[in-house]
Amino acid sequence: MSRDRKYAMGTKAVWGGEEGLFEGNATQVPVVHSVSFGFDDMDEWLDVALGNRPGHIYTRNTNPTVSVFEEKVRLLEGGEAATSASSGMGIISNALFALLKPGDRVVSVKDTYGGTNRMFTEFLPRVNVDVTLCDTTDHAAIEAEVAKGCAVLYLETPTNPTIKVLDIERLAKAGKAVGAVVMVDNTFATPVNQNPLALGADLVLHSATKYLGGHADALGGVAVGAAGLIKTIYSYREIVGNVLEPMSAYLLLRGMKTLHLRIERQNANALEIARFLEGHPGVEKVFYPGLTSHPGHEIARRQMRGFGGMLSFVAKGGTYADACRVLSGLKLARRAANLGAVETIAGPPATTSHVECSKEERAAMGIPESLIRYSVGIEDVEDLKADLDRALRQEA
Ligand SMILES: *Cc1c(COP(=O)(O)O)cnc(C)c1O
Repeated sequence: MSRDRKYAMGTKAVWGGEEGLFEGNATQVPVVHSVSFGFDDMDEWLDVALGNRPGHIYTRNTNPTVSVFEEKVRLLEGGEAATSASSGMGIISNALFALLKPGDRVVSVKDTYGGTNRMFTEFLPRVNVDVTLCDTTDHAAIEAEVAKGCAVLYLETPTNPTIKVLDIERLAKAGKAVGAVVMVDNTFATPVNQNPLALGADLVLHSATKYLGGHADALGGVAVGAAGLIKTIYSYREIVGNVLEPMSAYLLLRGMKTLHLRIERQNANALEIARFLEGHPGVEKVFYPGLTSHPGHEIARRQMRGFGGMLSFVAKGGTYADACRVLSGLKLARRAANLGAVETIAGPPATTSHVECSKEERAAMGIPESLIRYSVGIEDVEDLKADLDRALRQEA
């Protein structure tokens, strides 16, 4: 633990959880494809099984490769403990079900990730958990709802897909005052740009599928927070069987070694592209917290070290067909539902973040039909700008 704060972000990304040598003096983390772990000494087995001594028993509980992944994220987020799940929604749903019981109340915002929104509107109410979703930019309204009492205050910042920014420190204070567990989905920001725990949150959640892995080749989810809280989530997820695969943990770990380099580049590329789009005649509006025109810019400057690689913009014309026209013209973007990878990825909310919602629900959430979500990759920014310019001007 003493070494937790010793190193800066890039050093933690490379070495975190991997300082020692592995089995057979391997310098790289082995992918341990073993369901169980054997013991010749019955006392040792019992000690490990009871948690009195470190070790592994069964991969649904813990696995050596998965543990290294959890440890690296724990170090990057600066928390006491971490646990993982099979996907981002895996860890989010598990955290909610582990911490809530019938009769409890949750306060959150309208702009959470589409899957999270479905948890709030469908699956939690089904087990008699009351959920209040506030206007994402109205901090006073959120505080007022929290003050009425809640078990969980659930935040996500920056949000998907209109990149709104919530003041974590201010809202965490409100949550603490009523004894709520303050959860923050930090997927968009990554630990390189923002550490919610340092801003007062109790639990930070990631879809590791996105920036942590960074190569769009593995699903995973992870939670970091106080040891007691993580134990509650772990105890639930080991029984539900929501397990991160060792191979996925390896791929995510491999990706995380370059996390700081990728994010620095994506921060820089996104800021330049946002400024470029803001001055483009084919664009009606740009959403990016690094722009001084963004309503959350001041909060973002205070709580983030970089503004992230996610932006969105409204194509001129304002209809879904206008978004499709621009998207079809892009050569340097995967038209796909993912985000946070080394390559640029673009899509409309209707098929990506908010595919779970109806057109009416998206309208109610203030998501324009001609919105294009643009996950900026690590390519050369001049090429990306030229590609966008061509698509917006509809030249071949
Ligand atoms: C993708 C995403 C999730 C869900 O993660 P999966 O790994 O796809 O389950 C949750 N929150 C945010 C902000 C996301 O972008």
